[in-house]
Parts: sequence; C-alpha cells; structure tokens
Amino acid sequence: MTKMVAMQLDQPGRRLRQVERPIPVPAPGEVLVEVLACGVCRTDLHVADGDIHGTLPIIPGHEVVGRVLALGNGVEGFAIGDRIGIPWLGHTCGACPYCRAGEENLCDEPLFTGFTRDGGFASHTLADARYCFPIPDVFGDVEAAPLLCAGLIGYRSLRMAGDARRLGFYGFGAAAHILAQIALWQGREVYAFSRPGDAKSQQFARSLGCQWAGGSDEAAPDALDAAIIFAPVGALVPAALKAVRKGGTVICAGIHMSDIPGFPYADLWEERSIRSVANLTREDGTEFFEIAAQVPVKTSVTTFPLSEANEALDALREGRFDGAAVLVP
Ligand SMILES: [Zn+2]
Ligand SMILES: [Zn+2]
Repeated sequence: MTKMVAMQLDQPGRRLRQVERPIPVPAPGEVLVEVLACGVCRTDLHVADGDIHGTLPIIPGHEVVGRVLALGNGVEGFAIGDRIGIPWLGHTCGACPYCRAGEENLCDEPLFTGFTRDGGFASHTLADARYCFPIPDVFGDVEAAPLLCAGLIGYRSLRMAGDARRLGFYGFGAAAHILAQIALWQGREVYAFSRPGDAKSQQFARSLGCQWAGGSDEAAPDALDAAIIFAPVGALVPAALKAVRKGGTVICAGIHMSDIPGFPYADLWEERSIRSVANLTREDGTEFFEIAAQVPVKTSVTTFPLSEANEALDALREGRFDGAAVLVP
C-alpha cells in the first residue's frame, strides 16, 4: 500500500473532503503512524467553523491513537509496532522564554496537531516523536482516543483547581465525563451543569457518581470551591463566578468561547479569580496517563467511520451523544 486517505479541510465553513495522498516518509525525529482511532474534539469544530485560524488546507484531529510503522533518523523511546498517542501539542521551539521556563504549553513558536500540522482524521500521519505518549495497555484503541485531549487538557484544568473539594463542571461532554471520574476517585465532589433541560446529560453525570446534576441556569445546592467551564459559552463565566465561594476560582478550559457578558464587580470581589488553560505540557500528559490508568477511567465513545467525519462533527455540534466521538479508519 502506497496511498493514504484523509479527511481534509480546505476552507472553514466547508465540509471536509476525502483526499488520497502518497504515504509520507518520516523526517528525522518523526514517526510514521498507522491511525487506529482518532477522537473528535470541540477544537476540531472550532477549526472547521473558522472560530480559530491555523494552516489551510489541514487534516484535523489531535486525539490520535496509532501504531508506529516507520521511524525517522534519531527517534528515541519508540520502536516499530509500538502503540502511541499523538496529542494537540505537536512541537515546541525549546528556545523561547516560555519553553525555557518549563511552560512549553505557552511556546511562542509551537505546532499543533490538526491545526498547524496535519492530524489524525486519516489512515496515516506523521508526528514528532518527542511529543507522543505510550498508551497504557488497560485502554483499548477507541477508548484511549478521547484521553489525548479531552482527558489531558481537562486534567491540566483540574490541576488549576488546586485542592478544591467541591467542583463544578459546566458542560458535561467528553472532557467532563473523563475528569469527573478522576475528581471522584481523588475524593472530590462533582456538581455537573449542563444545558438547561438536558435531562440525558444530567442522568449521565449522575450515573458516573456526580453528587448533583442540573441546568446551568440552576443554583448548586452548596457554594463551589472551583468551577471548570468546558462549554464554549462566555455567559457561563459570570454564572460560575456566582456559584463559587470567596477565594474560589473559575477555570475556562476551552480554546474558544463566545464573548463574556459584563457583570458586577461584586461577583468577582472577595478574591474570586478567573483563568484560562492553554494547551498542555508533556509533563501533564505523563502524569495524566499514570492517573487515568490507575482509576481506571472508562470513556464513553460513539464511533464513526473515517469517511463520516463530517457527520461526527455535526453530531458533536448538536450534542447528539454522551461522552466522545471517535473516528475509526
Ligand atoms: Zn518555545
Ligand atoms: Zn482538543
């Protein structure tokens, strides 16, 4: 076999288009990977809809589980046949002030998988081996895919919540259903806020052990120590601020959000804070996979064939499934 297939985005707002290309040869430091599964993340929707702007044309997909088929010169730590995960962070410069300070998630010259370098909505892909992770055996291929962004960047958001005991999650999709399992395992209480009237998501949250589930227009029964907003809805920021106690933190976990409406300073007063989470570091990934395997996290997945990537994006946009969507070549 010399050809690969991929679902390519030519222009934001257009449907992805199936393309055939020669299977690429890995450059020094790269691995060639046969894709086994690739998760569909909300960020892929933001890319496809043009909410954020990267390289075009682009093959989206940054929750890639694959098998190593070939190694470029100088690759260390992986061998042909290994099962690996390719995350959103695809490359960093190693030289900017952020990289040197151990904050590679904020690198000035990064590459992001499925955004500024081709990703996993494909039968094959290339990756810089230094940014890939081994996948623990406890996870199946399809089940592991959502861990690579929803899980991993969600975990970074959870770390930003410090030792908060009462945690609110706004938006109960792929990230929240993974992070709820970790937070509960850590002995925290999880309060799940979904779209008002979305009884199915609320039931799903309760089935995972969340203490409380309701609409984002409802008040939590107790003041929260911290809240993490996974939904791309700016109006949830003032709502979450009202729900956290004095000194509490509101963490915005997504890459894009609608504008945040104005709110009274009194809602921020008393040392409440708002912060965002950007990308991931390799350290986050290593720590996350250790914990996820210990719990062990069970992901709820809905699979689509690779050729139905557009249908998977539509289903995500419309909130038609619980948990995460995963493409299988
Ligand atoms: Zn850098
Ligand atoms: Zn993502």
